[in-house]
Amino acid sequence: MAQSMDTGDEAAERLADVQARIAAAARGAGREPQDVRLIAVSKTFEEPQIAPVLDTGHRLFGENRVQEAKGKWPALKSRYPGVALHLIGPLQSNKAREAVALFDAIHSLDREKIARAVAGEMAAQGKRLELFVQVNTGEEPQKAGVMPQEAAAFVALCRDELKLAVAGLMCIPPVEEEPAVHFAFLAKLAGEMGLSGLSIGMSDDFETAIAFGATHVRVGSAIFGARPPLPANA
Ligand SMILES: *Cc1c(COP(=O)(O)O)cnc(C)c1O
Repeated sequence: MAQSMDTGDEAAERLADVQARIAAAARGAGREPQDVRLIAVSKTFEEPQIAPVLDTGHRLFGENRVQEAKGKWPALKSRYPGVALHLIGPLQSNKAREAVALFDAIHSLDREKIARAVAGEMAAQGKRLELFVQVNTGEEPQKAGVMPQEAAAFVALCRDELKLAVAGLMCIPPVEEEPAVHFAFLAKLAGEMGLSGLSIGMSDDFETAIAFGATHVRVGSAIFGARPPLPANA
């Protein structure tokens, strides 16, 4: 039935538009488009919106909650071989087992307890995930991520003690600040640590992020449309 509501077809069209913008931004920055991975952030959306995006051939998706992803992705994964799922939201250590089983990457390592739990589960399950350390570049009290001044020590702990292959750094700039400043800062930090992965850029700023070296952009609403508002205390 034709409704004014967002359909999956519109999502597929918007995906193509985002892909074109990513390619243009990469070329504009003297980079190869394929060096920027697009994570389609499907949180809050369900199968009717997600399936048309899968039908285009896109296979890389992001979710911010383990429980929610567990509810919808196993069925989609069996229908669409080759899906890669990235956890982009905070992880609790008691969810590490489920997270390692379901996801192919985690972008939110920020505490020793989580890093240890993930390392233990990867060993137990014989699975290697791509791992990013989240840095709270805006030093916001309520926000996840290691403080910038603690990032080097935390990455060293992950690499040297826990033998985790850290792929790079991730940040979510404060909403009211210029994202470029945070992207530049994170890129510098990653460079100092010899890390090449940069998980930066969302719907409103992924082109800027690409200019600063993003290897992974996490784009939700520009593909799937506006999300329903979260419950007050979510
Ligand atoms: C929701 C979310 C995104 C995508 O946000 P949009 O503005 O909809 O593109 C990216 N990163 C994280 C960590 C998110 O939680």
